[in-house]
Amino acid sequence: MFDFHIPTAFLIIGLLYLILPTVTWIVLADQRSVQVALWCGGGLMIGIAGILTGMTVKLPGVPLSAYFLIAANFARMQSLRLDLGLPSRTRTLVTAIILFFSCFEFLHLVLLDALWRVRFNAAVNAALIFYLAALAQRIGKTEQSRSAYWISGVYSFVGIGLLLRLVTVGQDGGPINLIGDGWSTQVLALAVVLSSVMGHVGYVGMALDRSRRREIQAAADQARKEESLRLSAQIAHLDRQRSLGQMSASLGHELKQPLTAILTNAQVAQRGWQSGALDTQRLGVFLDKIVHNTQRASQIIERIRDYIRPSQERSEPVMLNHVVHEVVALVADDALGKQIHIELPAMEPPVWVMGDPIALSQIVLNVFRNAIDALADAQKRDIVVECDKEKTWATLRIRDSGPGVADNLLSQVGTPFFSTKTTGMGMGLSISRTIAEQYGGKLTLRNTAAGQGSGAVVELTLPLLLAPTP
Ligand code: ADP
Repeated sequence: MFDFHIPTAFLIIGLLYLILPTVTWIVLADQRSVQVALWCGGGLMIGIAGILTGMTVKLPGVPLSAYFLIAANFARMQSLRLDLGLPSRTRTLVTAIILFFSCFEFLHLVLLDALWRVRFNAAVNAALIFYLAALAQRIGKTEQSRSAYWISGVYSFVGIGLLLRLVTVGQDGGPINLIGDGWSTQVLALAVVLSSVMGHVGYVGMALDRSRRREIQAAADQARKEESLRLSAQIAHLDRQRSLGQMSASLGHELKQPLTAILTNAQVAQRGWQSGALDTQRLGVFLDKIVHNTQRASQIIERIRDYIRPSQERSEPVMLNHVVHEVVALVADDALGKQIHIELPAMEPPVWVMGDPIALSQIVLNVFRNAIDALADAQKRDIVVECDKEKTWATLRIRDSGPGVADNLLSQVGTPFFSTKTTGMGMGLSISRTIAEQYGGKLTLRNTAAGQGSGAVVELTLPLLLAPTP
């Protein structure tokens, strides 16, 4: 059939199998994983087995190549099983290899039966090679990878070559070893040469297919995330519009006081001016009051307009610790004036999240304002801040030593318009909660572990950004 010098052919195969896995390892530098290591390591072991097989003529009776071959096939099998997410247990693999060695050595040393030893070796390797072909076929199907089908094809060819060797060993007059020198050996050698080239080219193709698919998937995920962020902004906006009815009631209530004050002051000033009883100095006082109340009314309207206006959501990596420090700088003077001590963690890990820095500052500022308000009549006036990572979450905890919230009111805290303050609007926590949810997080308020009367803890949790790109 083909006429080539078999030991030389196997030496060449051995060299190919030393070079190609190394090249594969280098080409896949960006995608190295246990699977790639097992595939390439398996290839190198086949290379060693090939060289040892090529030298068997010179070193008769050395069964080392059989050991390398079987270990190589198990390594490659595990590599493909890992790709499929079905790794074999290491204990099972080690037991299988030991079992193979025991049977092989039993035939070799005890029964001294060279023929059955070769048949056994060929049968086990053929079974493993067909199994590898089936695994590659499955990968081809699940990942729609043509390269995996190529691997499956050449491995099936090697399996057929091994089966041919299995039935012809001892019958074609050649030496009784796996390579022999008859036509079946030549078919086997050809199949192995093909598998060395196609096996590695196919493997690189399969890995590249996979990484391209991963990139497409990541882009699709990103698009979906952006879409859901956009949707949640719209939902939040609709929610805000829905509460417009309630809002106008609150608006009326809030505006009533400054508008009444403006009217009263204007009427008094008008009357006094008409009767000539009002001097310019007193008129100035009334005008000041009118200006002040007009400003208050406009601030109230501005606050409500800010709440209704749909905000253009920004999302970028934000260092939560930085937001906290900025807000603390903003409230520091106020806190100092009220003898409130703010305790920031001395050593803190950088905690990154995705969000809009302004919106996140709005949340933190609101929490600090509430804590400062809560401490107005407290004996002990402390605010303790903790910023930490917990698994996949970033957590910001702001604890104060104020009175906390009465247990029966806890469930209402954070709902729109709930306030226990005479001048409160009861919208701060509700807005902050909406913002936190827009970024996939949440905002909660509870009393400290010591219970009501010993302070409140507000906790902001947001999905942790693992690899920020500042
Ligand atoms: P507002 O500050 O206008 O009342 P918020 O929505 O910010 O609106 O807060 C709602 C209510 O939650 C407050 O009125 C208060 O009763 C309660 N609250 C918020 N933070 C604290 C805190 N740190 N300690 C005690 N009560 C708090």
